Amino acid sequence: MIKRLTGFQPTGNLHLGNLLGAMRPLVEAQSTTDSIAMIADLHALTMEHDPAAVRANTLEVATLLLAAGVDPRRTAIIANSQVPEHTELHYLLECTAAFGEAARMIQFKEKSAGGGPVRLSLLTYPVLMAADILVHGAEQVPVGDDQSQHLELARTLALRFNARYGETFTVPEGIRPESAARIMDLSDPVRKMSKSAPSPAGRIALLDPPETIRKVISRAVTDTAGVVRHDPENQPGVSNLLAILAACTDEKPGEFTSYGALKREVTDAVVALLDPIRARYAELDPGYVREILAEGRTRVRPAALATVRRTKVAIGLLD
Ligand code: ATP
Ligand code: MG
Repeated sequence: MIKRLTGFQPTGNLHLGNLLGAMRPLVEAQSTTDSIAMIADLHALTMEHDPAAVRANTLEVATLLLAAGVDPRRTAIIANSQVPEHTELHYLLECTAAFGEAARMIQFKEKSAGGGPVRLSLLTYPVLMAADILVHGAEQVPVGDDQSQHLELARTLALRFNARYGETFTVPEGIRPESAARIMDLSDPVRKMSKSAPSPAGRIALLDPPETIRKVISRAVTDTAGVVRHDPENQPGVSNLLAILAACTDEKPGEFTSYGALKREVTDAVVALLDPIRARYAELDPGYVREILAEGRTRVRPAALATVRRTKVAIGLLD
């Protein structure tokens, strides 16, 4: 089976875009791939952070993955801080990467632009991401646009290491989920729905109660054309609502005579999709979720250890 690694940052506010664009494809691929769901809690330390929030958000992501249908018997759920081979390989890969390569990453440039002190880990984090992928020998990594440059770096490092020290790493391939690749912000439909958006007005959080969902969708920005049709260029808001409806129901949307009718139907579909997830979330005990993370770690470690060992032999640290 194909090995696939899907990553989630524990930044809180998981939303409908994360569910439709990343969690559901993960659930759907469980029977045909050997998947790891990785929570990148180490990445959360690259910017100013609240320690308690990182812990809480990591548990929240793991709980939401379970509530959304990730089956821990098939898919290992791990936090990268809990599998020490990630950081061990990170250093070895730093000895393969160049300073300039890290410094020209767009995300580093954007996130370091604000003035203030820049954590060194923000610069080296794409190399950690390469380690996250290579340590498990992942063949496929679902990535959005914002991560494609980092994935390219992982490929470059794997190829360079293999060429210099001998065949050691599987070279990963970036893949895009076909359905719902991009759910847009409901209050600003030319921007993607995002955890870190400054305002929650355009975001449907996965644990939002039905009243909140109804309110957010009723206020969704549309246009003055007055016709319901899929035309992302000229009617981004309406097209986004249609895309959400199609993704939630797995069906081609019917005809609508008004924006109000469309919004009501979208609300019903989103509420129907999120209701059972919210109910399962409430039932999941934090102690159980921590156990699932510990089991995930136990499951992936032998292969991760073997990768690190192989890397150390190749690079000259072990016989
Ligand atoms: P942040 O603003 O912190 O970057 P995010 O909302 O972009 O948060 P990530 O943790 O970066 O979320 O991404 C988790 C997964 O969800 C990735 O696979 C990403 O491609 C997917 N994803 C994120 N936003 C959307 C969206 N609006 N539509 C579809 N998929 C999305
Ligand atoms: Mg993102």
